[in-house]
Amino acid sequence: MIKKHYLLSPGPTPIPDKVLSAAAQPIIHHRSKEFSNILKQVMEDLKYVFQTRQDVFVLSSSGTGAMEAAVVNTLSPGDKVITINGGKFGHRWSNICSAYELNVMEIEVEWGEVCSPEYLASALKSNPGTKAVFSTLCETSTGTIYDIQGYAKVVATSATILIVDGISGIGAASCPMDEWNVDVLISGSQKSFMTPPGLSYIAFSDKAWKQVKNSTLPKYYFSANSAKESLSRETTPWTPATSLVIQQQKAFEIIREIGLDNLIKHHRILGNAARAGVKAIGLEMLSKNPGNILTAVKVPEGIDGNKLIKTMQKKYKVYIAGAQSPHTGEFFRIGHLGYSGGFDIITALSGLEMTLMELNYNFKTGQSLSAAQKILKENWS
Ligand SMILES: *Cc1c(COP(=O)(O)O)cnc(C)c1O
Repeated sequence: MIKKHYLLSPGPTPIPDKVLSAAAQPIIHHRSKEFSNILKQVMEDLKYVFQTRQDVFVLSSSGTGAMEAAVVNTLSPGDKVITINGGKFGHRWSNICSAYELNVMEIEVEWGEVCSPEYLASALKSNPGTKAVFSTLCETSTGTIYDIQGYAKVVATSATILIVDGISGIGAASCPMDEWNVDVLISGSQKSFMTPPGLSYIAFSDKAWKQVKNSTLPKYYFSANSAKESLSRETTPWTPATSLVIQQQKAFEIIREIGLDNLIKHHRILGNAARAGVKAIGLEMLSKNPGNILTAVKVPEGIDGNKLIKTMQKKYKVYIAGAQSPHTGEFFRIGHLGYSGGFDIITALSGLEMTLMELNYNFKTGQSLSAAQKILKENWS
């Protein structure tokens, strides 16, 4: 058989052909007017998806670069910060803050659980002088959505700023930066932005810019002030990943055409279909509050989780993601973000069913497909 490859991981994600081919163009100079215009357009489009009036800077790095930029630009040595750690990426906030020798108070949340705004409020109360709260919008390691609006309400009344990792979430889940009062919002090209890995995005609120002024942590490549200064000349401080910026512009043409609200609705349908599918064959979700970006599913009793993922990836070429350490083998993650359509859910579920048959899991075949199809059919528009 011709074994087609299906990328259904929560990042990187499938890319539209028009975006892929945009990289195969002669290189233009990054200081040219032509490139400045493309960069300006991409920054406008970024404002649209971030739902902000602030500048959204384009960094040539993976998402973690923007996470580091958020830390080094707003804080000073020894500052007290609170991180919400409910998985791999929340933990990354703690790691970056610790690397810069900040005074880190970590709210540890079990994988798949959420942290309530009330809990955050009490943590802030018992830690006066906290400079920043770090959260994730969608914790990609567990598929959980956090209550950013709730956290923002708690933080907005104090001098503390709220820094949100929307790397997988922005573009697929609602997080209007200005309306909710998020102070620093970041994202990355390879998740919901229909673009290959390599770019990250960051915006600062007025309140955050004030903290940028006083921040003394060391910074150079990721200096927000350098980026802002260069922007006044319609450029970036260093050579940007020009081909990726051009690809992102093409992807934004598609995103604009669909519209942000419709895109979020689209993800809701995919999320509903994926959840209905796995539930129909007796599987359980890992997350107590699953988002529509990916679906994390517990490996059923008696099934070897590593074998399940390997079979799907290698035999069926349906590339879903496993669980990250320390939970390897306990659950798996089906991505439905970026350029994902309804039939991608069917592919994922079909590959899953064929794999489960092979692993002797006891279930009625075809049930996940029927359940997902029903939702897709009812909502197809
Ligand atoms: C993918 C992801 C990251 C990591 O981004 P890199 O691009 O691998 O550096 C961080 N946070 C979240 C929520 C993610 O989904």
